[in-house]
Amino acid sequence: GKADIECEVLVLGAGPGGYSAAFRSADLGMKTVLVERYATLGGVCLNVGCIPSKALLHTASVMDEVKNLGHHGIKFAAPEIDLDGLRGFKDGVIKKLTGGLAGMAKARKVEVVTGVGSFLDPYHLEVLGEGGAKKVVKFAKAIIAAGSQAVKLPFMPVDERVVDSTGALLLKSIPKRMLVVGGGIIGLEMATVYSTLGTRIDVVEMLDGLMQGADRDLVKVWEKVNAPRFGSVMLKTKTVGAKATKAGIEVKFEGEKAPSEPQLYDLVLVAVGRSPNGKKIAADKAGVAVTDRGFINVDKQMRTNVPHIFAIGDIVGQPMLAHKAVHEAHVAAEVAHGEAAYFDARQIPSVAYTDPEVAWAGKTEEQCKAEGIKIGKAVFPWAASGRAIANGRDEGFTKLLFDEATHRVIGGGIVGTHAGDLISEVCLAIEMGCEPADIGKTIHPHPTLGESIGMAAEVFEGHCTDLP
Ligand code: FAD
Repeated sequence: GKADIECEVLVLGAGPGGYSAAFRSADLGMKTVLVERYATLGGVCLNVGCIPSKALLHTASVMDEVKNLGHHGIKFAAPEIDLDGLRGFKDGVIKKLTGGLAGMAKARKVEVVTGVGSFLDPYHLEVLGEGGAKKVVKFAKAIIAAGSQAVKLPFMPVDERVVDSTGALLLKSIPKRMLVVGGGIIGLEMATVYSTLGTRIDVVEMLDGLMQGADRDLVKVWEKVNAPRFGSVMLKTKTVGAKATKAGIEVKFEGEKAPSEPQLYDLVLVAVGRSPNGKKIAADKAGVAVTDRGFINVDKQMRTNVPHIFAIGDIVGQPMLAHKAVHEAHVAAEVAHGEAAYFDARQIPSVAYTDPEVAWAGKTEEQCKAEGIKIGKAVFPWAASGRAIANGRDEGFTKLLFDEATHRVIGGGIVGTHAGDLISEVCLAIEMGCEPADIGKTIHPHPTLGESIGMAAEVFEGHCTDLP
């Protein structure tokens, strides 16, 4: 059949991967169409992920800080929580950003087509719009950025008191007792928000530690500060059944820390991971291979097995993070334009925006051990940081890992307030292949938390004058 729209580059999905790919394609002069099933651009990250969670986490962290000011001689009355107001603030943040994206698409003449896209063949995509209207887009090249969605637990009842992260972000009410299933970053961020608002939280995690992927020394500091937030943290335990009753969601557990009786919760957040949307776009009709789990494999130029079709973001694999999607997007668009671009990152940072924050980049100590890489390690404790002490938050530390063979920094981790903002310097140092002296001899502003990175490098050199 005939196409309704023709373009050089079709981008499927308008999350951080998709809109970045579309904008870069358009900036490079290619006629670009962006297909998105939802009314707003921005995907998971802007609408139901990174951004709304950070709006709520910021509010929670200010509330906690105000509470802590008691130790500084300043007391406030107990907070009055207006949930409508808080939701309104969060929704306003989302609107500002998604509205901004719509304007940026328009300015670049990226044509946004709203509807569910599925491939018809290697050069055509059908878009099913609201009310059943169909449009066919013919493309020379395509970039798949259809993202991921929350994994469901089949035995959880269909009930408004059982939610995924999207439901938790709606913040319908402040439950008395909440169960967070899955002790990863998303679950723990939401636990932080709800517990600050007054909810008593239990966490259940199948593995033997929370926040998998981060080195245990970092997580230990977070655990110590956060212990009061939790009723029980059930490690090496899983949920095996749940039933909706009038009184709440009754959950059964199995494993090392399983309570003998089923427990009753007002809200259950299932945060056990995200699965890619690869199987929902009729990729096979375009000849694009999708793995059993729904991922699409790509090479370093983000090409799928079909050379003129690229894939980026959550759908191509871990880590499922917005900044990874954006960088892959730029590579895909540039390669589609005929440039010799490659995705060849030395590091992709991870951040838990909890309180304190936990951030890490490059190789972790655990990875180095597993890969047999001999490392030198340097730690600067924030108990020796003037700024951290002045902030009343000196529980954190900054760690750098140097490859013994090359003398270059290959990893780093920070736990403490603002760790997520601070880790960027470590990211740059890893990409630049910095040696300890490069970091240690760089003059950092005093008194800042960022100094701790320079000081960790000085510790490694054996001449830190800020430690005993
Ligand atoms: P997505 O953002 O998933 O976008 C895919 C888009 O494609 C969606 O808009 C979807 O509607 C659309 N789509 C899918 N199929 C079709 C179809 N057939 N037709 C039309 N449209 C389609 N990452 C971070 O880096 N930092 C964070 O702080 C962070 N916090 C998070 C918090 C939460 C609660 C969650 C859930 C995730 C968080 N993430 C965070 C992860 C981040 O959101 C994702 O890594 C990122 O959104 C992936 O971008 P993407 O472009 O690959 O896909």
